[in-house]
Amino acid sequence: MTLLDVDDLVVRYDTREGPLHSVNGVSFSIEDGVNYALSGESASGKSTTAKAILGLLPDHAEIESGVIEFEGRDLRSLTPSERQDLLWEEIAFIPQTAIDALDPVMTVGAQIEQAIQTHRELSERNASRRARELFGTVGLDPDRVDDYPHQFSGGMRQRVVIAMALALEPKLIVADEPTTGLDVIVQDKIIDNILQIQEETDSSLLLITHDLSVIAETCDEMSVMYGGKVMEQGRVENLLLNPTNPYTIGLKSAFGALEDGDGDLVSIPGEPPSLDSEPTACVFEPRCPFAGEECATTEPALETLPYRNQRVACHNADRAARMRRDAEDAST
Ligand code: ATP
Ligand code: MG
Repeated sequence: MTLLDVDDLVVRYDTREGPLHSVNGVSFSIEDGVNYALSGESASGKSTTAKAILGLLPDHAEIESGVIEFEGRDLRSLTPSERQDLLWEEIAFIPQTAIDALDPVMTVGAQIEQAIQTHRELSERNASRRARELFGTVGLDPDRVDDYPHQFSGGMRQRVVIAMALALEPKLIVADEPTTGLDVIVQDKIIDNILQIQEETDSSLLLITHDLSVIAETCDEMSVMYGGKVMEQGRVENLLLNPTNPYTIGLKSAFGALEDGDGDLVSIPGEPPSLDSEPTACVFEPRCPFAGEECATTEPALETLPYRNQRVACHNADRAARMRRDAEDAST
C-alpha cells in the first residue's frame, strides 16, 4: 500500500527579491515499509519538500499546487487540530537542526512526556517511564531525562529528538539530515539507531541527506533533486550503480572523489539555478556537460527508462549513460 504520495508539488516562497519556486513539480511515493531517500545538493528543495508534507512551511511560503496524500488522506486540507493529531502519532519529524525541535526551558524528559500525553491516555508515571525507556533505546543515560537541552552535546541532542520522534511509534519518520554536523562515529551510531528502531516499529523512513553512502546503507528507493526538480528516481542500487542523468553522474563522481574524506559532497562546478522564473529549460542546463540546444528551450519530463524502472529527466540520458559506462570500462 502507498503510505505517502506526493504528486506534482509546487512550493513558492515570497521573498523580498520576488517569488522563489523552491519545489517545482516534485513527484514521488513511498510504499509501506520502504525507506526512501531525498538527495541532491544544497538548495535543491529537499527541506522545503519535507516541510510541505508536514505542514510546517513558514507563513511566507505557499503550496501553489500538487497532491500530498498520506494513506490516501489529503494532507493539504487538514485542519490545524487534525494536523496536530497526525504529527508525532503517524508522521514524526526529525528536523535538520535538532535544537529547533526542543524547548530550551523545559527538561527533555518533560517534553517527551508532554508529547506522549498529548496523544495518549497515559498517567504521568507511565509517560515518565516511557521517556526513560526511549532514552535507553537511543543510547542515552535514562537518568538524564531531567536535564535541559543545552546540557547535551549536539549528537546527544539529536538522539533526544529521535527519542521524541519515536515516542508514539509513527508510521513514517521524516528525518532531515539527522546527522549533519556530527562526527562520523556518532553519525554511524545514530543511523544504526534509527534503522534499528524503525525495524522494530515497522515504520517507513523518508531520509533527507546528501550523503550517498548513508543512502546506500539505509534506503531502498530515492529521488535526486536539483533546482526544485526531481532529476532522477528509482531503486537505490540501480541509481547509484547506473546513474543516467548527468547531474546524478556528477554527484556520484564528486562523491567518489571524496569517499575517504568526511563524507561531505562537493558539488559539480557552477552555481545552483535561480528559481525566480518559470523554467523554459532544463534547470541543470547551464552546468551540464551534455547540454544541447533542446536543453535550453525545453524542460525534460521525468520519464521512465525502458529498463530497471528508473525515471530520469534528461534529453540526453542515453548518451550520458553510454559515456559513463564507457568511462567506467576504460578505467577498469
Ligand atoms: P540544504 O541541503 O542546504 O538543506 P535543501 O535542499 O534542504 O538544502 P531548501 O532549504 O528546501 O533546500 O531550500 C530550497 C530553496 O528555497 C533555496 O534556494 C532556499 O534559499 C530557499 N528557501 C528555503 N527556506 C526559505 C525561506 N524560509 N524563505 C525563503 N526562501 C527559502
Ligand atoms: Mg535542507
